[in-house]
Amino acid sequence: MSTPADAQRMEKIVSLCKRRGFIFQSSEIYGGLNGLWDYGPLGVELKRNLKNYWWRVTVHERDDVVGMDGAILTHREVLKASGHVEGFSDPMIDCRTCKAHFRFDQLIEKKGVKQCPNCGGKDLTDARQFNLMFETHVGAAADESSIAYLRPETAQSIFVQFKNSLEVSRKKLPFGIAQIGKAFRNEINPRNFTFRSREFEQMELEYFCRAEEGMKLLEYWKEERLKFYENIGIPREKLHVKTVSDEERAFYSKGTYDIEYDFPFGQQELEGVAYRTDYDLSQHQKASGKSLEYFDEVTKQRFIPHVVEPSAGVDRTVLALICEGYAEDQAPDEKGKMETRLVLRFHPRMAPIKCGIFPLLKNNEGLVAKAKEVVDLLRPHMFVFYDESGAIGRRYRRQDEIGTPFCVTVDFETLGEKDEKLRDTVTLRERDSMKQERIAISDLLAALSVRIA
Ligand code: ATP
Repeated sequence: MSTPADAQRMEKIVSLCKRRGFIFQSSEIYGGLNGLWDYGPLGVELKRNLKNYWWRVTVHERDDVVGMDGAILTHREVLKASGHVEGFSDPMIDCRTCKAHFRFDQLIEKKGVKQCPNCGGKDLTDARQFNLMFETHVGAAADESSIAYLRPETAQSIFVQFKNSLEVSRKKLPFGIAQIGKAFRNEINPRNFTFRSREFEQMELEYFCRAEEGMKLLEYWKEERLKFYENIGIPREKLHVKTVSDEERAFYSKGTYDIEYDFPFGQQELEGVAYRTDYDLSQHQKASGKSLEYFDEVTKQRFIPHVVEPSAGVDRTVLALICEGYAEDQAPDEKGKMETRLVLRFHPRMAPIKCGIFPLLKNNEGLVAKAKEVVDLLRPHMFVFYDESGAIGRRYRRQDEIGTPFCVTVDFETLGEKDEKLRDTVTLRERDSMKQERIAISDLLAALSVRIA
């Protein structure tokens, strides 16, 4: 259950996201478009770091996974075969009093009577199925034959390209195809900031295997995915594995886990890990008339592989990173008096900016030139930020607030003015402990690289 303090925390997070350029409401100057968000200068960095790390551990660091990048506009037949045209819908209710629309499970119930969560009205329509896919037309003729959809998940293009990917990569089972990309769902009630959006990104892996390996691989991928979240700074105790019950699970799935996170607005899904059997490939083989079978060269058998799918949301994970990182603590101001410090404690691997670089004074040529040398040294290897304005303490605070894990200050000791032994050394300050160490400029790249890898 979320408390008023949680709601307040969420408000502060949303406000910080806008103020510091992580996330803006889409089309804001025209009043906004509900359920759509734009990522600003820092948001785009955070999102890229997340996607790059997922790609690194899922594709580059494995021998058994290849990547792909499919089209967003999707042939109607693909989504008919997958069951989305017929069944990708939520039950919707309208309130006749305030005219709002709701998903059936969002109605509130008082003394056994369903009510509108917006106005409390009891005059509600019956539930009807509302298809969540965005429909469009491809080409000049806007008729039945030209209908296409914005994909509601990235997975289907992986299934449809299964044979091509298998042939070009010459992989043997078990092997996977990974994809990161946009997906679109016309959610009835987008809510909780970016958590439920109408346009979002997914990081999906379809891991193909033999039927007898399915249940074991479901466990394997659940564990791998939990490790992933820990490696980006989301502690295990804030993650929950929900076993999706027989009644809630898709009819073709033999086992599904939801990985949930303690958001300030409650425990909610970050990712689904599902053993989908051979349902998807069988459906596409049947509907297209093209073989999607795998040929086992040892046993000389032909069969449709089964698949385990870890499917994560980029936007939900970015939101979890921000919620997890957000903290207020106490730090001394310029005069040593304690004040509240706002800090985003991102894992250095995820932090948008890795290192702030400051000359102690902006009107000293020697300090400025040296600081710019440090910028040139680090810039090819990581995203750094040069800042010369304001007192050093204020510059640290600005970086704390956007989650920069390290700051380097070039001072008079760097120039060798106080002690020749300290020439070409700088102070390296760590965001969370606020500890400072003296380090040689020549050791800086190596020291930072291991910490942000
Ligand atoms: P939910 O039950 O929350 O609607 P789902 O079970 O329908 O999600 P999946 O179809 O399993 O979601 O999609 C995989 C992942 O894609 C989800 O775990 C989530 O991270 C992300 N996702 C799905 N819908 C949205 C959305 N509307 N906004 C943002 N991310 C989403």
